[in-house]
Amino acid sequence: MTATGGTALRRPASVTDELLERLVARVPGSSGATWKLAEVYTGEVLVELPQSTPTDIERAFHEARAAQKLWSQWSVKKRLEVFERAHTLLVDNALTTADLIQVESGKNRRMAVEETCDPPMIISHYLKRAPSLLKPKTRGGPIPFLSTSTEVHVPKGVVGIIAPWNFPFATGLSDAIPALMAGNAVVVKPDNKTALSPLYGISLLEEAGLPKGLFQVVCGEGPDVGPTLIDNADYIMFTGSTATGRVIGERAGRNLIGCCLELGGKNPMIVLDDLDEAGVEEWVQSSVFAVFGNTGQICMHIERIYLPDSRYDELSAAFVKAAEGLKIGAAYDFGPEIGSLVSVDHKDRVASHVADAVAKGATVRTGGRERPEIGPAFFEPTVLEGVTKDMLAGQTETFGPVVALHRYRTVDEAVHLANDTDYGLNASVWSGDIARAEAVAARIESGNVNINDGLATAYASKGTPSGGVKNSGVGARHGDQGLLKYTDVKNVAVLKKQVLGARPGQDYDAYVKQMLSSLKLMKKLRIR
Ligand code: NAD
Repeated sequence: MTATGGTALRRPASVTDELLERLVARVPGSSGATWKLAEVYTGEVLVELPQSTPTDIERAFHEARAAQKLWSQWSVKKRLEVFERAHTLLVDNALTTADLIQVESGKNRRMAVEETCDPPMIISHYLKRAPSLLKPKTRGGPIPFLSTSTEVHVPKGVVGIIAPWNFPFATGLSDAIPALMAGNAVVVKPDNKTALSPLYGISLLEEAGLPKGLFQVVCGEGPDVGPTLIDNADYIMFTGSTATGRVIGERAGRNLIGCCLELGGKNPMIVLDDLDEAGVEEWVQSSVFAVFGNTGQICMHIERIYLPDSRYDELSAAFVKAAEGLKIGAAYDFGPEIGSLVSVDHKDRVASHVADAVAKGATVRTGGRERPEIGPAFFEPTVLEGVTKDMLAGQTETFGPVVALHRYRTVDEAVHLANDTDYGLNASVWSGDIARAEAVAARIESGNVNINDGLATAYASKGTPSGGVKNSGVGARHGDQGLLKYTDVKNVAVLKKQVLGARPGQDYDAYVKQMLSSLKLMKKLRIR
């Protein structure tokens, strides 16, 4: 593992004090309390982030509601024009966005730039899809020719979004975009550590013509902000840990509002025994990213790899060699392949999973150490063997650059081990034979399964819903439901003439006979 950085690190030139002050100025904080938002690589405080009180949050909802009343009157076409312009601005300013993502999250530059692509991809998808999704759909009603029923999608009102720190720009913006397109206002609560990039993205949306007041930002610790935010929202979109998801879901349930919960994972990868030389090479390259990309802080990243016993030595050696070759470092250029963890607290949590595993008998094939000489929250890419379910790393999400390698003897055993978890967010299956991999994928309990890839193919397929099963979530983002979940359905039914019920003077037995035979006729004629 080679290392860079640690000395003479200069903050990116675009991240000026003036920009930072301008970004945080829109966060309400009437109590004067602030959070010291720091540059991860150095620990240096960048800006004091205002912390919103319950009164501030209520006011943000009040303003959002007023703006939403007007916005929802705009035609869909006019609303989408804002996003046509926003797409250009987001792409043109991607490098400044990446600078902000890097300073606040400590991720490496390659990953920060990739993250900037997510909201433009979401915009492109829904620019194409939103007009037909939001168009009223008229169908025949219960009385053929004399009745109609129209499905009208009306915005929920004000959507509350609670976002995590691992992809702050993507989760802060990408889930808001379809909500706004559908005619809602949004109040977002980013994580305190990573509020800068979403604030910057929102300023670009406003530059593109999003009405002021429509997209509000409130900041604070989750338990302080969460209750008021949920109690004022008409729908909640949450991305974060399973533990917090339960708290959010319970409160949303009490308020009888809908919610989408995108939670954690303990994602397995099964490698079948038929990869040829080229297949092994592709697998190594892709799986190293699937495990260590974003320093392992991707909800869909792989934490368990199941290798066939017959090829365990060869495959595990190739994977470990690739992990050892990764360049780890603190830099605002494209050099390092692995960046920092988000905070010292999180680094301590990751380290505790490794220490617990080793204490209970696991072995470290590579990595396993903190790297304070690079930066305060660096931890090496780590490959473990002998991890069992009584270890923290064997059961709960580590969410860091740590993976456990396991042997399996039969495919049935591999599937059983992959499914032996409370989570069900992502899985990966590798084979030289796609049909064989698909048959295994069909048996895995997971909201996403990537075949011959680790995670990116499923996540980047914006037309297909993506969510978790079991303890990994409720609902999904992307696809048609990624927009329609932010709407209520109104069924507007029209009856052109009163023909239901017996005619005046009609014998009721005759009426029932006539009604039952019309049911048969409707089925025969396929009339709904
Ligand atoms: P977290 O649950 O601690 O925090 C997520 C957000 O919720 C933060 O903004 C936090 O301030 C807020 N929060 C915390 N407690 C709250 C409460 N009681 N009420 C309201 N809000 C509260 O998660 P995290 O550590 O920030 O993020 C990492 C987790 O997110 C991992 O488990 C990861 O798998 C998950 N994640 C899931 C997805 C997905 O799409 N499934 C994507 C990214 C991250």
